[in-house]
Amino acid sequence: MLGDSVKATHEILRPLHVRGVRYYLLPSAGEMTDYTYALPATEGWYQTLQVVSREDSKNFDCHSSPSALCQEIFLTTPHELTHELVDHLLGKAATRWFDEGLAEYVAWGVAKDRAPALRKNSLFMPEVCLHCPEIRQKLKSWKGEDSLSGLKKKVSNTQTAWEIGSLYRASFQLVRLVVERARANGIEDPVQKLLRAMMEFRARRKRPVDGEELFALIRETLQVDVEHLGVLSADEQRRLIAQAEDDLNKRDDVVLYLNSLQALACIDMDVKRSTLEGLLRIAFDEKGDPLAKHLAATALVIRFKQPELEEALKRSPKIEGGKISVTPAKAKEFLRALSFRSPRV
Ligand SMILES: [Zn+2]
Repeated sequence: MLGDSVKATHEILRPLHVRGVRYYLLPSAGEMTDYTYALPATEGWYQTLQVVSREDSKNFDCHSSPSALCQEIFLTTPHELTHELVDHLLGKAATRWFDEGLAEYVAWGVAKDRAPALRKNSLFMPEVCLHCPEIRQKLKSWKGEDSLSGLKKKVSNTQTAWEIGSLYRASFQLVRLVVERARANGIEDPVQKLLRAMMEFRARRKRPVDGEELFALIRETLQVDVEHLGVLSADEQRRLIAQAEDDLNKRDDVVLYLNSLQALACIDMDVKRSTLEGLLRIAFDEKGDPLAKHLAATALVIRFKQPELEEALKRSPKIEGGKISVTPAKAKEFLRALSFRSPRV
């Protein structure tokens, strides 16, 4: 399976390749709490160590099981291998969207048919993430390690985690759209064509490509303008909102439920009164999932201008398990504090 995964990664990223892959599996009976390890330095090799549970180490059915081992082999390995192969072509300034986006694009390309069970659990509305104005704004200046320093810790760690997760998915979507548009322009093997152009750039300038240069290279070689990609059309927005309003009630399917909240939090479009009431219940649910509460609050905050919301708020949402009723003004204050985004002006 590992050999297949590495081969598939190389096929997508031709002409780049590593000398080989060393993969250490360490089966462990319990949870590891603290460990360090050193792997031998080997030039041009990709190597990693993976700790697996005893149970997981026997589970090789990646078609139906989304196990940690399947994830390591078919998502993490192609992702990390892509970084290993591509990083020397990318400068530090404003190229992270491409680095992470390509790594995710390759990983999902490899996992798609080999480990379809992974898909449902991990993909979180990439088209919605890229559409989200705040995420779009951050995407092209996203850089460095995930030190979280560049990301405001305005609300809590939930916000930071949401922003980072959304940035990864938006990057994936942006790279996917670049490839799709290039193909629509009649360009075969867009990824390979772009990689070759980046290699030539590096050889000519004796340095890797940086942000604006990368946009220019994509424009020249693939005839795609990155700047405007990913904003959803009014029709697509309506379709996603209608789907989200339907799925909001399916709370027993966590992925569907959170995906619907993500769409409602990122797409600025009026919704039904019953949806607003549902969102209020989620945001004020004392025992609710924290991410769901934040997303519901965000979806409400961006709809402060929708008249039906004012009415729903007057019917006084309750906090702390329904014990205390709050005024609309107090409720708005509470929602604003939980929200990932600011109200529309
Ligand atoms: Zn990465």
